[in-house]
Amino acid sequence: MRTGLNPAEALQTILDATPVLASERVGLHETLGRVLAEAVASRFDLPPCDNSAMDGYALRSPELAGASRGAPRSLAVAYEIPAGGRAPRALLPGEAARIFTGAPIPPGADAVLRQEDTERDGAQLRCFAPVEPGENVRRAGEDVRRGELVLEPGKRIGAAEIGMLASLGRTAIAVHQRPRVAILSGGDELVEPDGDLSGGRIVSSNSYSIAAQCRELGATPVYLGIARDTPEELERHFRAALSADVIVSSAGVSVGDRDYVRDVLQKLGASFLFWGVEMKPGYPLAFARFPRETAGLVFGLPGNPVSAMMTFEQFVRPALRKLTGHRAWFRPLVEARVAQRLAKKPGRLHFVRVCLGREAGEIVATPTGNQSSGVLRSMVLAQGILIFPAEASELAAGALARVQVVDEDFLAAPEPGF
Ligand code: AMP
Ligand code: MG
Repeated sequence: MRTGLNPAEALQTILDATPVLASERVGLHETLGRVLAEAVASRFDLPPCDNSAMDGYALRSPELAGASRGAPRSLAVAYEIPAGGRAPRALLPGEAARIFTGAPIPPGADAVLRQEDTERDGAQLRCFAPVEPGENVRRAGEDVRRGELVLEPGKRIGAAEIGMLASLGRTAIAVHQRPRVAILSGGDELVEPDGDLSGGRIVSSNSYSIAAQCRELGATPVYLGIARDTPEELERHFRAALSADVIVSSAGVSVGDRDYVRDVLQKLGASFLFWGVEMKPGYPLAFARFPRETAGLVFGLPGNPVSAMMTFEQFVRPALRKLTGHRAWFRPLVEARVAQRLAKKPGRLHFVRVCLGREAGEIVATPTGNQSSGVLRSMVLAQGILIFPAEASELAAGALARVQVVDEDFLAAPEPGF
């Protein structure tokens, strides 16, 4: 097994081993946030026919040439076309049709004069303005043409896509399956949040942060609870996890005496691709897979809460994005100025948790404070993760660095911009 990989090699190894999950058909309402697994083309024009963009009168535009308040043109109102209605016949010269927004333009008409530029007296219409040919007409197919590809596979389905799918008459959609992620935590010191904390026990917070990280990605976490540090209990928990697409276990994959996770997984048939990544926080990351067609990926995350979240963020998250069918697997990256000098020993890449701000049109990254792998507050405060490259030993105040934006609220504005 390889050890001490650099983060890029580790990530590549993981992504190479990660398939894209198969598709399933779900109802339109269930598609929000899912990833499209089919190409969607339209079977018809959208809108299906030329229709009015205004409440007004459909008419022949040449007949209004030169019309004004002082020199109105007179037309005869032949009939009315409500939205959802149809013209009973073609419009004849000298005629206008009362028309409402969305109603089909009658044959013979080529424009709509808005109501405000008319005066009605029974069947007689006085028109006070000219119209251009095609004015206030929405053309058939101006949104989508029949046969046109509208949504491509790999597209994340949001509200607009759902509206479009509904407009195209689609009720069942092929989307990629959601990965099922079995989550387990190992450690004799661990209790649930309402447990007894005496005797040096600590809450298994990783179970909760990891489940939430899965949910944020649209994956389905299956929490398998806390396993005590015995081979038997770990084996029992891992067996329960074998049907999942991905297994994420935290702690117990170190080199400590009681770290049985590796032995147990190997006994169950998993092969380890690597252990240990040259990064901080999070060196003791293990990655294994079961020999099967679909997924069967195993991530042994470090136990320290920040290390667990960070290794999930950097390695499990991209894998889950790929499994789910996404084409883009990584967080938005920005260049930011470091607010204060940072120093470390060369060798490991540091993922520095930072707050983000703006100064003079630039993004400024300020470390959240204590960067210890046990200080979960650093993740609570983090709006970004600053990449302090492995070989570097110093980032001077004001230096530029790459930052992964993890909190989209950083981009939320205090004012609307209009
Ligand atoms: P280990 O990898 O077992 O040596 O654990 C490293 C550190 O992470 C220890 O301080 C553990 O108490 C802590 N830890 C392990 N598992 C969890 C968990 N599920 N939630 C929070 N902290 C944990
Ligand atoms: Mg432990």
